Amino acid sequence: MSTIFSKIINREIPADIVYETDNVLAFRDINPQAPVHILIIPKIEIPKVTDIKIPEQSILMGEMIDAANIIAKQENIDETGFRLVFNCGGDAGQDVYHLHLHLLGGRILTWPPG
Ligand code: 5GP
Repeated sequence: MSTIFSKIINREIPADIVYETDNVLAFRDINPQAPVHILIIPKIEIPKVTDIKIPEQSILMGEMIDAANIIAKQENIDETGFRLVFNCGGDAGQDVYHLHLHLLGGRILTWPPG
């Protein structure tokens, strides 16, 4: 089932897009939890981490990591450090069932997360 992220991909609703390839889109989170909070998504609809098909989608997953590294550099947090997070399912607080990688940085991030 399509989510709000499909509408962002299709430019039906606006987003602050920071990076795009044929397969991946990245945009700023509407409710940022850090000075840099960007969501990296595949353009195809994969609801959550447990739906990822390996090896078929291995390259796509690699593209998401590559996007994270490129954006971290763009945002000048590649040296200071950043966190990548996939929330998967209800206990992890996943709200949008279109796979997304959170890229967080620009402040000290505590551990363990909430
Ligand atoms: P989740 O809790 O599913 O891992 O994260 C979903 C994220 O999507 C949240 O951090 C939330 O703020 C963000 N989000 C939800 N709706 C929108 C939207 O319409 N635009 C943008 N840019 N971010 C959104």
